[in-house]
Amino acid sequence: MLGTSKALVTAALASSALLAVTVQEDKLGYQDSPLIPGTEWHVHDGLRPQPRVVTPGAAGVSQSAPSDAIVLFDGTSADAWEGGPWEIADGAMTVNGKGGIKTRESFGDCQLHLEWRAPELGDGPHAKGQGRGNSGVFFMEKYEVQVLDCFENRTYPDGMTSALYGQEPPMVNACRRPGEWQSYDICFRAPRFDADGSLVSPAVATVFLNGVCVHHAQPLIGATRHRQVAEYAAHGPTGRISLQDHGNPVSFRNVWVRPLERAE
Ligand code: MG
Repeated sequence: MLGTSKALVTAALASSALLAVTVQEDKLGYQDSPLIPGTEWHVHDGLRPQPRVVTPGAAGVSQSAPSDAIVLFDGTSADAWEGGPWEIADGAMTVNGKGGIKTRESFGDCQLHLEWRAPELGDGPHAKGQGRGNSGVFFMEKYEVQVLDCFENRTYPDGMTSALYGQEPPMVNACRRPGEWQSYDICFRAPRFDADGSLVSPAVATVFLNGVCVHHAQPLIGATRHRQVAEYAAHGPTGRISLQDHGNPVSFRNVWVRPLERAE
């Protein structure tokens, strides 16, 4: 879309010294990282347009698992997970600095539901950007849907809440306030590789944040990387789901998954 072109953004910035100074002071992300193939944006480009804010509908009753789901966390037991262990209290498990956790079981194509909560902002200076409520959901331990508190908190768009990290910003910013529970409903299609390891079809993700569609059948360009272009490396048809310890006490609850397969 012309209105979002980088040339226009850059020209607009150059046309106003005052604005340029403002942007300089509020610099987001990177422009010294490689270009994302097929786009005009660098990995983690702070000039990439910020998705507009959408206020999600009121939080309802937390959706319980359907009958064929595999419950990964019911509020009391983290037996489905390795790593951590994270602190369990009040029906939630919370990142505690003991490292990430991953499911014992492996999954390929699947529907994942989870709820997460970024820590409330206390008194005093607040962390900004990637430092606020950072965690992440990784499919196959490789493909990250970012968890971050982006309620009135700007960061580079391909690293914001529900971004396919380093690749694709969400269509909109449907964050709730920190301290409130938020939901992800994600349908993930695993990438396919042929016998010699060549990519046959990419991973694809459809993501709802708080009931708002933020990615619709979005292909991934590879496994998540920081400040580098994502790349595929051949792997098997299934892998573990992992949750990131990024040093912030993000909580999770009501986590369940349904492997997706056709009847025939
Ligand atoms: Mg993260």
